[in-house]
Amino acid sequence: MCDERAVRLLAERVPEIIEEFLVGELNVSFSRTAEGELDYTQEAAHSCRRIAHADDATGHAISVKLLAAVRNEQRIQLLPGHTAVDLITVPHHSTDPTAIYRGVECLGAYVLDQQTGAVHRFFAAHTVLATGGVGQLYLHTTNPWVARGDGLAMAHRAGADIINAEYVQFHPTAFYHREADRFLISESVRGEGAVLRTRDGRDFMKDYHPQGSLAPRDVVARAIHEEMLKLGDEYVVLDLSPLSVDPKVRFPTIYETCLSYGVDITQQPIPVVPAAHYFCGGVKVDTWGRTNIRRLHAVGEVSCTGVHGANRLASTSLLEAILWGRRAAEHAAGHDARLDAKYKDRIALWRDKGLTEDIDPLLIIQDWMMIKSTMWNYAGITRTTKRLDRAVADLSYLAHRVEQFYRETKLADSLIGLRNGIAAAQIIAEAARRNRQSRGCHHRVD
Ligand SMILES: Cc1cc2nc3c(=O)[nH]c(=O)nc-3n(C[C@H](O)[C@H](O)[C@H](O)COP(=O)(O)OP(=O)(O)OC[C@H]3O[C@@H](n4cnc5c(N)ncnc54)[C@H](O)[C@@H]3O)c2cc1C
Repeated sequence: MCDERAVRLLAERVPEIIEEFLVGELNVSFSRTAEGELDYTQEAAHSCRRIAHADDATGHAISVKLLAAVRNEQRIQLLPGHTAVDLITVPHHSTDPTAIYRGVECLGAYVLDQQTGAVHRFFAAHTVLATGGVGQLYLHTTNPWVARGDGLAMAHRAGADIINAEYVQFHPTAFYHREADRFLISESVRGEGAVLRTRDGRDFMKDYHPQGSLAPRDVVARAIHEEMLKLGDEYVVLDLSPLSVDPKVRFPTIYETCLSYGVDITQQPIPVVPAAHYFCGGVKVDTWGRTNIRRLHAVGEVSCTGVHGANRLASTSLLEAILWGRRAAEHAAGHDARLDAKYKDRIALWRDKGLTEDIDPLLIIQDWMMIKSTMWNYAGITRTTKRLDRAVADLSYLAHRVEQFYRETKLADSLIGLRNGIAAAQIIAEAARRNRQSRGCHHRVD
C-alpha cells in the first residue's frame, strides 16, 4: 500500500536528515557506542538494527533542539496561545462573487487569540498545515491532548483530498495504570528482548506470529486485544527479565515514569494495553508536501505522503516529518513567494457579532466521551459493518448538535477542538466503513 516514490525518497535522503541536519546543524544528542558511532536499535518488524535513537526519548531530543533553533531565528514569529480556526480559501471566503471562476486557493488562516477571544486573519503566500495526528479521538491513546484532528478537519472543510483515513495505528504497549495517561512503552523494549505475557505468565504471541513479541504492530495489538477479551483481563504484561541490557540505563524515561506509579521495571513486569498511536492517512500530498489546493502544503502526521501505506513501520514518522517539512519550505520559497495585496481586501472578516452564549465545559466533556468511546468500540482495533454503521450514524447526530452549538456560542479553543474532533472522527469512520478489505491496521472481522 506504500507509494514507492515516497519510500525511495525517504530512504535515499536519510543521510541528509540525520547526518547533515539533525547532527550537523542542530547537534541532536543521539545515543552513541563506546567508539562514538551512532548506536542503532531495533523495533517490531525490523529485520536489522538500524534506528538511530536518543535513549528512549528521541522525539523529545529532536524537538528541544529544533525549537531552540526556531527561537533563534529572527524571521520566525512564534504565537503561543493561538488556535487556527479555519483556512482562508478562495472562493469560500472571498467577497468577490466572480471568485468562483478561479480554482481553490489558500491565502492563510483565521486564527483565534485565546486570551482576547478575537479571531484574526493571517495572510500568507504559502500555508503549511502541521497540526499532528488524531489519537485523542480514541479512549486510549499515547498522543498528547493537541492531537485532535484540527488540521484534518480544516483541510476537509476547505476541499483538500484526504486518503487512507481508515488506517489508524494502535501501539500494542501503552503503560496501564488507573491513574496514569497511556504512557508509551517503546517497541525497542521488545527489540532488546522483552516478551509479552498474559497475567498468568503465558507467552501468547507465539500462537499468533512466527516473530512472537516482535511481530508487526497491528498483529500484536490485535493479539493483545483478543487475549484481554478472552480472559476478561484489563491488561497483559511485558516481561523484561530476558533483556541483555540494564533497563534502568537503556530506558531511563520509562524506568522513572513506571517507578512514579509504583512499578519497578528492574524487578516487575510492566502492565500494558494497546492505544491509538499514529494516523497513517491524512491530507494527500506529493513529494513536495503540496496538497490539491494551491498555496497549501501539509507536513508531518496530518499529511499522507504514501510512506506508511496501511501500517506505519516503527520510527519512520520523525524522518518523514523532517524531510517533507524541509521540502515544503524549499518549494514554498521557490514559488509565488508573494501574495498580491488585492487578494487581502477581498477576504471577509470573521463574523462573531451577536454570539453571547458562554461555553458549558460539561457539554464539551460529555461530547468528547461520546467521540472517544464510539471510536474505540466501533472504529477501533477490530471493525465490523454493524459497528461502523453505528459509528457513522452516532457521529452524524453528534455533529449536527455540535454544529448548532458552535454557531451560537462564543469561540474558544475547546469548542474549535470539539467541532474538529467530530469532523475527523466522521472522516475516519466513513473511510473505514467504505473499505471492506482488511489491510494493515484496518481490520474487518466480518
Ligand atoms: C509517545 C510517542 C512516541 C513516538 N515515538 C516515535 C519514534 O520513536 N520515532 C518516530 O519516528 N515517531 C514516533 N512517534 C510519532 C511522531 O512523534 C509523530 O508522528 C510526530 O511527532 C508528529 O509530528 P507533527 O509535527 O506532525 O505533529 P505534532 O508534533 O503533534 O505537532 C502538532 C502541533 O500543532 C499544534 N496544533 C494542532 N492544532 C492546532 C490548531 N488548530 N491551531 C494551532 N496549532 C495547532 C499542536 O499544538 C502541536 O504543537 C511517536 C509518537 C508518540 C505519541
